[in-house]
Amino acid sequence: LVCREVQGEDTVLRVGGVNIGGNKLTVIAGPCAVESREQLLAAARAVRLSGANVLRGGAYKPRTSPYSFQGLEEEGLCLLAEVGAETGLATVTEVVDEESLAIAARYVDILQIGARNMQNFRLLRLAGQIRKPILLKRGLSATVEEWLMAAEYIVSEGNGEVILCERGIRTFEDSTRNTLDLSAVALAKQLTHLPVIVDPSHATGKRELVAAMSRAAVAAGADGLIIEVHPDPAVALCDGPQSLDPGEFDGLMAGLRPLAEAVGREL
Ligand code: PEP
Ligand code: MN
Repeated sequence: LVCREVQGEDTVLRVGGVNIGGNKLTVIAGPCAVESREQLLAAARAVRLSGANVLRGGAYKPRTSPYSFQGLEEEGLCLLAEVGAETGLATVTEVVDEESLAIAARYVDILQIGARNMQNFRLLRLAGQIRKPILLKRGLSATVEEWLMAAEYIVSEGNGEVILCERGIRTFEDSTRNTLDLSAVALAKQLTHLPVIVDPSHATGKRELVAAMSRAAVAAGADGLIIEVHPDPAVALCDGPQSLDPGEFDGLMAGLRPLAEAVGREL
């Protein structure tokens, strides 16, 4: 069902007045994790002013260490809904299991299935049974075929609103957090009609590389970007080193504008 051969034209999703796919370049931005009302509101206002379309914020954080900040859970979802409404931004958050999926579906516009759960087939099936767009990240060491098959799990259950996200893969290279695989973006765009976006924040782990990889993603044909932005990255509870501050994000957006025009995309 996700194959180009089955459906020739691009799938274009419409979420809270914003298109994802087609000739739109959708920018999702916000903090890795929702930390407080003040933090989220500051991030949301800033990214909105710079031209972002969707607000991101994690409430269930799949952290490497069990002792790291795990997210505000439902309290964080309440804040996302509140701040999204206040700033007029659509919202996305990660779900990690059946329970968080059911709860988050009540609060946010788009549900994210993270890299670590890309092959959680039961979660994929459940995501296929709800009526909200699903942002499906590529697994840490998933092939393009496995990534598309994960999308097929969702679509085959009846939910055709899937957004694919390349977020870097595990390689021998350890000078970046992951290795951004832009060939997978160009390839996925050929193989599927679903929108494909890029996460340069988790792909690189380094804020100095995020703008360059964002431009490269647009040149490679990505339908959008998801970027971590924190009002004060130095005190972020999660992923500070890869988070942009509002000024850096504004610069990134300014750099994307001529490029978006060159590839015929509306930013
Ligand atoms: C995230 O977007 O917050 C995240 C945890 O990403 P990934 O699943 O790609 O690691
Ligand atoms: Mn993060």
